[in-house]
Amino acid sequence: MPKVLVIGIDGVRPDVLAEVPTPNLDALAAEGAFTARARTSLPSVSGPAWSSMLTGVWPDKHGVTDNDFTGKRYEEFPDFLTRIEMVRPELHTFAVADWPPLMNADDGRPTLGVTIDERRPLDGFELGWVEADTRSVELAVEHLGSADPDALFVYLGNPDETSHHFRSIGEEYRAAIALADEHVGLLVAAVRARATYAEEDWLILSSTDHGRLANGNHGGDTPEERTIYYLVSGPSASRGEITDSTYIVDLPVTALAHLGIEVDPAWRLDGKVVGLAR
Ligand SMILES: [Zn+2]
Repeated sequence: MPKVLVIGIDGVRPDVLAEVPTPNLDALAAEGAFTARARTSLPSVSGPAWSSMLTGVWPDKHGVTDNDFTGKRYEEFPDFLTRIEMVRPELHTFAVADWPPLMNADDGRPTLGVTIDERRPLDGFELGWVEADTRSVELAVEHLGSADPDALFVYLGNPDETSHHFRSIGEEYRAAIALADEHVGLLVAAVRARATYAEEDWLILSSTDHGRLANGNHGGDTPEERTIYYLVSGPSASRGEITDSTYIVDLPVTALAHLGIEVDPAWRLDGKVVGLAR
């Protein structure tokens, strides 16, 4: 039974990631494929970039060009969990995110759609980002242990918010990345602790929406802002460094492929499959 866990970590610069001890992400990479040279959308800000990672299309299609989300076209270009619900409604989908726009919108059409089976909106601004990410992981771990999800998305916002707060990519930011790695470890452990794990074929993907400059800012077209990491792990993942040109829009297409969902050309997705063994 193929299953997918996507762990999205906000604002992680790959060259800094390489300098921070991250044993859990390293272990995933050792059992899969990794590149520190993937590319995100422009502008390199969260709204457009998460929209690209979740929908599999660039901003010219999904319509999100800033964090106001004006112009979004999620009805035509839904997130991949909503896409799963449209074509395989018998599959069970789960999403948790503590950056509120991903889960809530005044018009009822947030980035992660309302037909996802289990949705856990949290607010990192209210709870504080360490607390919010910790709760997000607890909710996902609890769900992995008590339900039978086929596809999950878990968002971790603390690294990005920490860098903005300190206007730096220094110690506090690095500690936040290390904490996110601990959270990755808890999620992987919960997957492996499932009673039915032996009969399941989990693909764990992780990526980030953008990098940042040394002062924490981002949005522009520099390599520091647009270079992202991309990780695919599990028995069905390919092995070693990914040498193909890899883009943020490839992630959801790869997740759908692992679940056996064929991309309809009418969906007009921009991504391709990256990191699967077959
Ligand atoms: Zn971001």
